Amino acid sequence: MNEKVQERTRAEEAETSRASSFAKPLFLGEIHEDLIIPYPRLDKAEREKVQQLSDAAREFTDAHYDPRQAEENGWIGDDVIAGLGERGLLGLYIPPQYGGQGLSQTGYSLVFEELGCIDPTLSVVLGVHQSIGMKGIYLFGTEEQKERFLPDLVAGRKLAAFALTEPQAGSDAYHIRSRAVLQQDGSYRLFGEKRYIGNGSKDVLTTFARTDEGAHVALILEKGMEGLEVGRSYPTMGLKANDLRHLTFNDIRVPPENVLGQEGDGFHIAVEVLNNGRLSLGAGSIGSVKKLLRLAVDHTLTREQFGRPLAEFGLVEDKIGWAVSYLYGLQSMAYLATGLVDAGMPDYSLESAMVKVAGTDFLWHAANRVFQLAGGSAYITDQPYEKILRDIRIFPIFEGANDVLRVFIALSGLKPLVDELSDLQEIDLSQPIHSLGVLADYVSGRLRREVRPDRLSRVHPDLQPLADPISDQVQRLRAASERLLRQHGKGIQDEQRQLKRLAHAAMDIFAQAATVSRASDVLTRGLSTAPFEEQYIAETFCTRAARRVERCLDQIAENDDERMHRIARAAYAHRGYRHTI
Ligand SMILES: Cc1cc2nc3c(=O)[nH]c(=O)nc-3n(C[C@H](O)[C@H](O)[C@H](O)COP(=O)(O)OP(=O)(O)OC[C@H]3O[C@@H](n4cnc5c(N)ncnc54)[C@H](O)[C@@H]3O)c2cc1C
Repeated sequence: MNEKVQERTRAEEAETSRASSFAKPLFLGEIHEDLIIPYPRLDKAEREKVQQLSDAAREFTDAHYDPRQAEENGWIGDDVIAGLGERGLLGLYIPPQYGGQGLSQTGYSLVFEELGCIDPTLSVVLGVHQSIGMKGIYLFGTEEQKERFLPDLVAGRKLAAFALTEPQAGSDAYHIRSRAVLQQDGSYRLFGEKRYIGNGSKDVLTTFARTDEGAHVALILEKGMEGLEVGRSYPTMGLKANDLRHLTFNDIRVPPENVLGQEGDGFHIAVEVLNNGRLSLGAGSIGSVKKLLRLAVDHTLTREQFGRPLAEFGLVEDKIGWAVSYLYGLQSMAYLATGLVDAGMPDYSLESAMVKVAGTDFLWHAANRVFQLAGGSAYITDQPYEKILRDIRIFPIFEGANDVLRVFIALSGLKPLVDELSDLQEIDLSQPIHSLGVLADYVSGRLRREVRPDRLSRVHPDLQPLADPISDQVQRLRAASERLLRQHGKGIQDEQRQLKRLAHAAMDIFAQAATVSRASDVLTRGLSTAPFEEQYIAETFCTRAARRVERCLDQIAENDDERMHRIARAAYAHRGYRHTI
């Protein structure tokens, strides 16, 4: 395409289309207020349905599910799965025509919040089944495939798994080595190995392989297929009831009717599925933090030391206040993201990565702090703390390791800026980040835009002082992004420390915008029983988040990155720390 045509296409896109993402344009210095105000809300009928499903999950698990027993058994229990299936909890977003509940992404995430509150293992097993296991069939399956697989999966007669990770391909899932060889009759012969697969010995597995020409294919495997070898169950630190398996594909014949999408679609399917999964993982984290907060408050109010309840000490209040205010911000951000998905925003890859990173990191820190508040008793296994800590430690690692997602957030945010700065056109960000494997797909898509004011102008007047600083931050984010691109050109993909700062700044800007939008709705529509408390918490979250943004952007200019680089390289050279007293 010649330059003029490129220019025209860009201008036309800018004029004619709505923004396809809220988070990406932040890197361009744009705030698309129309996407986030008013804050999205579920309709009454779906709210009631979510409540009824959450209550059913709570009542059933209270009576029939013992997390410690499940750990000992190494499996959550077939009777538990059947009971949850009967109550509609295994097909939450699947349309009623296949027996599901037809929930929106927001409704689905709200139920997952409750599951995360009940038990992290339970939420992971159900998440593997629904968020990633059957999602590919739901999103990309033919009508015949949906009718064949979904009703059994929804009812709990069968469980689903998602088998992507291999011994040589974890974060870099683009480079999987499993081989699919096309046969004359349209079937594939499948060879290879997968590791760490949740629900791995169960019934219906979506898996991924490459042809000899390098094309990715997505395939549906079924329990009992000849050549499908289910290996040992991994002995894990937590999530012990999650049937984590090694799988070997010894020349499995996968019939044409079990091919998902077309040859070449496999990687896109994996990325789309994970995008979705990340949102509910973030929501599940909200539920687990709520539970931790309840435990911490109960404990610190009743335990006395130095003649006073622990709750009265300033350093205890600090931990509780931090957790409540950050939780408010995270919740605002997560349900803004799901609301945007429900409203049909086409590209939510950045928002879902942000919710996953923020939610799972926060959950880990919250679990650690609450563990500290419980003192020595937290270490004893008849208390709930150590199991939560063990279970959730994997959250920042799976479904995209958080550091990998940070780099992804920044590089995909920078991509539209490269498109805009015509003098930087020689930088191709789609290739370098291909090495980020499973995440790369999305970066090549051009952002659809519309010209927007860079200000939140439609918020409740009491919240304008929180909204105004967001404009300055967005401008600074754009300036810093542009400076880094001009400074490093193609080399930007190797500047991970700087990319992390951009990603964190963008995440905290997104979180502030979400919090202001939500609190504004609360004040305007009288939706809360404690509006002033909410406003106070929102102010606290936004003030802290704004400070973090300033700090990150300041550090782009002034940091000790070079020192970290040199010290790490010296440690590599000497195989660790070599300095004695
Ligand atoms: C309990 C459990 C359940 C799981 N369930 C499933 C499942 O159901 N299906 C499935 O397919 N897989 C599953 N996995 C696998 C999981 O998704 C992978 O472990 C994860 O993707 C990380 O891959 P890896 O372990 O190979 O780590 P690696 O890719 O080797 O990464 C290790 C660490 O290196 C760092 N790192 C890697 N790349 C970069 C980079 N580009 N820049 C900076 N830092 C980087 C990160 O800190 C990362 O955490 C599960 C794993 C566990 C333990």
